[in-house]
Amino acid sequence: MNEESGISLRDEVFTSVFEQIADSVVITDAVGRILYVNESFVLMTGYNKREALGKKPSLVKSGAHTKSFYRDLWRTLHAGFPFRHVFVNRRKGGTIYHEAKTITPVFDESGRITHFVSTGRDVSDEKSAESRLQRLAYIDQVTDLPNRARLQEAIEEALVNREAGSGVGLLLIDLDGFKAINDTFGHLVGDHLLFDVGSRMSGVVEAPDLLARMGGDEFGIVVRGAGATARSESYANALLEAMQPEFRIGLRPVHLSASIGIAIAPDDGDDSFTLQKHADTAMYQAKEQGIGKRRYHRNMSVTASRHFSVRNEIQQASYRGELSLAYQPQIHLESGSVRAVEALLRWNHPYLGSVSPAEFIPVLEETGLIMRCGRWVLNEACRQLRSWWASRIPIPRVAVNVSARQLADPAFHAEVEAILRYHEIPPDALEIEIVETSELTVCDVTASVIDGLSRLGVRLALDDFGTGFSSLSHVSRLPVNAIKIDREFVTALGDDGGHKFVARLIEFVQSLELETIAEGVEDDAQLSMLHGLGCQNIQGFYIHRPADVMAMAGFAKRVAATQSRPEWTYSRSRNVAT
Ligand code: C2E
Ligand code: MG
Ligand code: MG
Repeated sequence: MNEESGISLRDEVFTSVFEQIADSVVITDAVGRILYVNESFVLMTGYNKREALGKKPSLVKSGAHTKSFYRDLWRTLHAGFPFRHVFVNRRKGGTIYHEAKTITPVFDESGRITHFVSTGRDVSDEKSAESRLQRLAYIDQVTDLPNRARLQEAIEEALVNREAGSGVGLLLIDLDGFKAINDTFGHLVGDHLLFDVGSRMSGVVEAPDLLARMGGDEFGIVVRGAGATARSESYANALLEAMQPEFRIGLRPVHLSASIGIAIAPDDGDDSFTLQKHADTAMYQAKEQGIGKRRYHRNMSVTASRHFSVRNEIQQASYRGELSLAYQPQIHLESGSVRAVEALLRWNHPYLGSVSPAEFIPVLEETGLIMRCGRWVLNEACRQLRSWWASRIPIPRVAVNVSARQLADPAFHAEVEAILRYHEIPPDALEIEIVETSELTVCDVTASVIDGLSRLGVRLALDDFGTGFSSLSHVSRLPVNAIKIDREFVTALGDDGGHKFVARLIEFVQSLELETIAEGVEDDAQLSMLHGLGCQNIQGFYIHRPADVMAMAGFAKRVAATQSRPEWTYSRSRNVAT
């Protein structure tokens, strides 16, 4: 007999078990009066046993649950089933706690309910962890601003609650030239700067409007409630002004500007997708024209809305298997053999069709997707080379284009090493083409990644040589093996000046004992001139257009067969070209 609990528990063992159980235990009679509570209940609720006995469990009710909730509860129990739920309850001291509770009806032999037993566990900590998680799902980690998902929700809420006669504005703000900052100073610095930009922008935006970071260097504002249209316009002006004063990277001043696109529902679209698409179109036009801000207009160019589609669709391209590689051979002129094949990324989209790398690679770089796609390219090219070798196809090497952003990642070198090891490819069978653009500012990280690759034995080529403004400094500073003379210069071979320039270029490259590869060779005349000037390798439509795996294998086999005949010369190469 347990006097204090008010219920007779026949067995001492049971009593002691109930008392020591870590979960709270409450036993009530058939009408819900409390007959027994254990020690855990006391600890959890703050009520002592005397205070609880004879009362109803509503003692700890917080008012958080609705009438229909209790209706469900009783219906379930009277039907003879246990009822499980996380209850929001109130302690004696007034604080709220969450209890994961199971209430079980107890029957006598005739099938009548005699008692209810409830066991429960305080899950308040887990609940607050959950709300922290929920917070994480809506907050951007870099700027502490709401993120894209939150903005998307806010647009939808605003559209649903829009009152007749008022509008909902969406501003998309994209920083100009931010990629160069990431490439030059690295991501940590880039992130700091984004935080500063975010804080400056939050100084402009007021409730009920919402500022969010969309990802990358893009921000968005939802403007809602009365006066949204006018406010959208004035936000755009205020933001452009707020960006005027210089930002700082350490002690170094940097200037940032932004391009803003504005779309306003219902005129510019009355669903969230259209509104975003149109704001993006307007933003793209503003950027193209370098005019800061633009409101969407129906007549805006097709290219601008295509830009949105490309940016939207590329996100999923690698998952949907829309990416592939085309290969283009490089021929060594003296021997007439295939020196390497260059892997060129291709994207075939169900309705955009085949999108040119010139169009989507900058988007991959802007959005950071280039890291994932670049890894895929590298792996796929190495896998393919191994598979050609397995079929005895005479292709000695694969060349892969790598963006500045990949080279600024300290982990890149280890990644390359792992891929080579995995496919059992000797390092010198891989050539990495570093694109020679103005954005390839060689910071310490990039330089050490390039050094690491070189030490590993991977070959390095400077792509599009001569088009960037610091070509010469790159050649002298970086441990490159080959120079790719850009198509622009090959095309200009026909005129006197162009010819002289290429002659000097080749001379210079050879004085550094580097290999030369001329790109974009389209006819016999160009080929002859390049050969005459001592250029060692050529690549271009004249030899072969970029093609698929099978075509490349066939080409390499034909080249090898022709090459074994002594009369082969470079000028015969067109006979093997397809
Ligand atoms: P690139 O590396 O300089 O590649 C050579 C480009 O010139 C290719 O364009 C190729 O199709 C084109 N080409 C080759 N021979 C001729 C010719 O005789 N005449 C003409 N008119 N064009 C020729 P594509 O495939 O459109 O690639 C463009 C650029 O995109 C590449 O220039 C490269 O910088 C970049 N790219 C391609 N694949 C990748 C990749 O996997 N990663 C990165 N980061 N960039 C890539
Ligand atoms: Mg290339
Ligand atoms: Mg090139």
